[in-house]
Amino acid sequence: MKMVYVDNNATTQVSPEVFEEMAPYLTKYYGNPSSMYTFAGQVGDKLKEARVKVADLLGAAPEEVVFTSCGTESDSTGIHAALISNPDKRHIVTTRVEHPAVKSLCEDLAKRGYRVTFVPVDHKGNLDLDYLFDHLSEDTAVVSIMWANNESGVIFPVPQIAETLQDRGIVFHTDAVQTVGKIPIDLSSVPVDMLSLSGHKLHAPKGVGALYVRKGTKFSPFLIGGHQEHGRRGGTENTASIIALGKACELAGQHIEDENTRVKQLRDKLEKELLARIEKAAVNGDRINRLPNTTSIGFDSVEGEGILLLMDQFGICASSGSACTSGSLEPSHVLRAMGVPFTSAHGSIRFSLSRYNTEEQIDYIIEHLPPIIDRLRQMSPFWKKSQTGST
Ligand code: PLP
Repeated sequence: MKMVYVDNNATTQVSPEVFEEMAPYLTKYYGNPSSMYTFAGQVGDKLKEARVKVADLLGAAPEEVVFTSCGTESDSTGIHAALISNPDKRHIVTTRVEHPAVKSLCEDLAKRGYRVTFVPVDHKGNLDLDYLFDHLSEDTAVVSIMWANNESGVIFPVPQIAETLQDRGIVFHTDAVQTVGKIPIDLSSVPVDMLSLSGHKLHAPKGVGALYVRKGTKFSPFLIGGHQEHGRRGGTENTASIIALGKACELAGQHIEDENTRVKQLRDKLEKELLARIEKAAVNGDRINRLPNTTSIGFDSVEGEGILLLMDQFGICASSGSACTSGSLEPSHVLRAMGVPFTSAHGSIRFSLSRYNTEEQIDYIIEHLPPIIDRLRQMSPFWKKSQTGST
């Protein structure tokens, strides 16, 4: 069966070049980089190379990169480090639309006695900056704001926030798991203190991530153990995956223009054609200020799960809300925070493209989705009511 994968914000295909780069470090060069002999030393050298490649994509120095196991670990490490390094401060500022990696952590920290401010967004998914700045206080230890939202794709003004927070004694962490590789990032001119990224969102394997820690930022390890990562993250390095992440970052830098031209045009075509062919369909979130690969579209009076099931019969892989909330019938917290009407939030689908998508695949979705929505609406009591105007 044909397969059209447009769920790249959930995870991505490992690039063949990335796989080729990592494979020998699983089979042939399996030494522990901490060992003294040459056989292991060559693995250590390759790790150094990977660190430089990750740093280059971010506009950072190699020593500022700490390898982790995933985006979630990077987020937890960054936020905990900020709290442990500032033990007298008990206030955290984050947003209402963070990924659970930050949102659930902050909810848990609230149960453990921290005060947490969740900054709201408007109906386009843009952050209420006045609310954010008005809620900072002497007691604020850390501000954690995602750079771009995984569901709507809306980009937050991280450079502006970083400038404002600079020199205020508040650690600024950003979850850039969906941002790295999609839009250019240059941390040499954006003063964030910590930034999280994850390999499997940019064509490296699952199970590897990184945390950028700006030189001079107070730090405390989350995984305490050996001396790996200069004592900043204990545990034998996931060498092959780190090497893969390095290669993936190098390739991401080369493909970023394609992402912002060809991939963006494909996304725009998909969106335009679906909106033209399907009545009562609307894009969730700001259509200008967002990632080039993402669109979230609400189809009124149908269930997202129903759409996913029928699209699956045609081999089309997308997601309703975020992948992590699929399976739950509640509209996602992101769409609720944006005030997307209930009937539309329930029928929202996120399409997220990558450099491996083709125009032919987009045409395939444009051909098959409208009849699917039509079919579901014939069975929808909400749709029938909206058509007859009865209450
Ligand atoms: N942050 C954001 C914005 C994400 O989209 C995700 C994954 O979907 C994560 C964090 C978690 O990353 P990982 O799956 O590598 O733990």
